[in-house]
Amino acid sequence: MSRLLIIGCGGVASVAIRKCCQNDEVFTEICIASRTKSKCDALKDKLAGKTKTVITTAKVDADNVEELKTLINSYKPDAVLNVALPYQDLTIMDACLACKVDYIDTANYECEDTEDPEWRAIYEKRCKEKGFTAYFDYSWQWAYRERFKEAGLTAILGSGFDPGVTSVYSAYALKHYFDEIHTIDILDCNGGDHGYPFATNFNPEINLREVSANGSYWENGHWVETEPMEWRAQYNFDQVGEKDMYLLHHEEIESLAENIPGIKRIRFFMTFGQSYLTHMKCLENVGMLRTDEVDFNGNKIVPIQFLKALLPDPASLGPRTVGKTNIGCIFTGVKDGKEKTIYIYNVCDHQECYKEVESQAISYTTGVPAMIGAMMVVSGQWKKAGVYNLEEMDPDPYMDALNKFGLPWKVVENPELVDCYKTNEPSVHMN
Ligand code: NDP
Repeated sequence: MSRLLIIGCGGVASVAIRKCCQNDEVFTEICIASRTKSKCDALKDKLAGKTKTVITTAKVDADNVEELKTLINSYKPDAVLNVALPYQDLTIMDACLACKVDYIDTANYECEDTEDPEWRAIYEKRCKEKGFTAYFDYSWQWAYRERFKEAGLTAILGSGFDPGVTSVYSAYALKHYFDEIHTIDILDCNGGDHGYPFATNFNPEINLREVSANGSYWENGHWVETEPMEWRAQYNFDQVGEKDMYLLHHEEIESLAENIPGIKRIRFFMTFGQSYLTHMKCLENVGMLRTDEVDFNGNKIVPIQFLKALLPDPASLGPRTVGKTNIGCIFTGVKDGKEKTIYIYNVCDHQECYKEVESQAISYTTGVPAMIGAMMVVSGQWKKAGVYNLEEMDPDPYMDALNKFGLPWKVVENPELVDCYKTNEPSVHMN
C-alpha cells in the first residue's frame, strides 16, 4: 500500500500513471499534479473504473517550492515521482527534503535559462573542470547527497530507459556476467515511423537541445568531446534491421564512469534518419533552436518554445507510429580471466504500446521504468538514505519488474560490435 504524488501529466507521465494503475496493489493511491489541472482530470476520468488505485488531481507550479510544499503536506505521499521537466528537479528535491518524502525522477537537472549569468558562471567552470559542454550534469543533484542522507530519505535519479534501464543493465552485467567491465556502448535505436517529415518523440525542447549539442564519450578517465554528429556507425538491430546511428553525449555516461569500477570507455549512440537530421540542421541554422528571448513585434519569444508550439505534440504520435525500438548496452570485459562480450537489450513495438496505454514506444520505454523506480522505493526494495543513480542499487528486483511490466530483456553473448567512423572522413575509424 502506498501513496504516490506524480508531478507532470505529459507523454512520459501518462504512461507512468497508467502503469501505476495496472499495479494497483502497490500504488493504492496516486495524485497527478501539473500546472494544467484539466489535463490531469482528463486522464483521471479516462482511468475511472479501470483500476483500484484511488486517483486525485491537483494544480501545482513545480518551479515554486512553497506551492510544492503545500501540496505535499496536504497529500502526504510516501514518495514524489518527478515526470515534469528537468528544469524542476531541484525545486522538487527541495520540497521533498522540507516535507521528508522520497524522490524519483527520469532526467538530470538542466537550467531553463542558459543565459542566466549566475548559472553560466558555474557552468563554464564545470566545462573547464570536467571537459564536456552539455547544459545538464549531475553535480547539481549530487550536491543533495548529504542532505538526503541526514534526513534518512532516498532520491533515485534517472529512472527512465536511458538513463535508467541502461544503468540497471550495467549493474546487472557487473553482478552476473563480469568480474570487470571494460567498455559499454549504449545503443538507442528508434525504428519507428510516424509519417511526418519532422517531429520529436518526446518534449521537443529537451530533445532538440540534446541532439544539436556536442557529442562526447568517456575514455581512460576523461571526457573526449566531439562535434555534433561527428562519429557515425551502422548497426543491424534485432527486429528493426540496419540503421545509421551517431555518437551523442548522454547523461548516464557521467554516473557510470563514477560507479563502474575499472571502466575504460563508455559511448552512447542514437539512430537518426536523414530527414530528421536535415530538418534539425536547417532549424538550427535559421536560429529556431535558440533558447534565449528575442523581440518579435514588441513581444519577447523564445524561438525553441515557439517551434514547440508548431510541431506535432509528441503525445499525438501514438496512433500513427509503426515499427519498433531496440535499446540496450554492449558490454566487454573479463570473467574468470577470460574476455567476454554481452549485449542486453529490449525491443518494444510502437503499436503494441499504443494498444496498451495509448502512447508510442518512446514514452512507454520511459514511463514504465519511472513507475518501476517509484515501486522500488515505496516497496522498500531500494530504500537507502542518500541520492543514488540506478546502477548503485541491486539490479535484480528491477530486472524482474521490467519483465513483468512490459519491457522484457534479452542477453546475447558475442554480439556484433560497433565500428564507428568519422561522418566526414569515413576512412577514419575509432579504435
Ligand atoms: P512533456 O512535455 O510531454 O510533459 C511535461 C509535463 O511536465 C507536462 O505535463 C507539464 O504539465 C509538466 N510541467 C512542466 N513544467 C511544469 C511546472 N513548472 N510545474 C508542474 N508541472 C510542469 O514531457 P515528456 O513527458 O516527454 O518528458 C517528461 C520527462 O521525461 C522529461 O524530464 C524528459 O527529459 C524525461 N525523459 C527521460 C527519458 C529517459 O529515458 N530517461 C526519455 C524521455 C524523456 P503542465 O504544462 O500542465 O504544467
